[in-house]
Amino acid sequence: MERSTFLGLMGGAFAITGLGSLSSFADNLEESETMMPVIFIGHGSPMNGIEDNEFSRYWKKLALEIERPKAVLCISAHWLTRGTFITAMEHPQTIHDFGGFPQALFDVQYPAPGDPKLAEETLGLITSTKVVLDHEWGLDHGTWTIVRHMYPEADIPVLQFSIDYNKPAQYHYDLAKELMALRKKGVLILGSGNMVHNLRMVAWDKIDQAYGFDWTIEMNELFKEKINSGDHKALIDYEKLNKAAFLAIPTPDHYYPLLYTLGLKQENDEVSFFNDKPMAGSLTMTSVKFG
Ligand code: ZN
Repeated sequence: MERSTFLGLMGGAFAITGLGSLSSFADNLEESETMMPVIFIGHGSPMNGIEDNEFSRYWKKLALEIERPKAVLCISAHWLTRGTFITAMEHPQTIHDFGGFPQALFDVQYPAPGDPKLAEETLGLITSTKVVLDHEWGLDHGTWTIVRHMYPEADIPVLQFSIDYNKPAQYHYDLAKELMALRKKGVLILGSGNMVHNLRMVAWDKIDQAYGFDWTIEMNELFKEKINSGDHKALIDYEKLNKAAFLAIPTPDHYYPLLYTLGLKQENDEVSFFNDKPMAGSLTMTSVKFG
């Protein structure tokens, strides 16, 4: 991967969507017997969207292991907004929000339908803030590079829920809890980011290697330890975790999706890690499934 590729990813961090119309809600989703798991996935390079590698192979396997969802709701590190939005169009576009990659990646279309009714129902679950129905965004690469491996037929509705980037960590953790009912209604909630994500410190000579700097390994272990022990407070106050935290999380865009999944964890959910690897020195692909 070229340096310009990563730098291209760093631009345009803020995507401010237009205002959709506010609608009232009707909670018509049927409750199912089981709780869907909630999963944080390290997405890494957009190339994972078209590569058959150990990460994408695990995403495929994961989809076969869990119950088939009625819909997927993804909180992607790549949809940062002022205010909170949920995609509400019938046919979300595939967004190629990166630069410097092969044409084959730009050629990918993932034509999963949206679910406007579910968007309205989700809006109705949230009382702590105003959620706006969005008709302009779609599926950014934080979502489609993963979900196209999980559900290649593109026959399950996929929605995105934006990250209000003006708000602090605790806000996102708390807001996630208001989405809890969706887990009982067959909706698979994904957080898509990377726990350790420092593009400025990428080791260019090890760009495609499962290599991590000492501080990357240290932070990866610390994140897992805190997730395992359920010390969510420490993970919310991530800046105080240890002296390497500012290297792992120079900006919180790729970390906040983890907080959504932590907020959605229930007491009795099993915790299992996968794709537990560093990449390119200053990234981790480490992912975690709750439930
Ligand atoms: Zn990303």
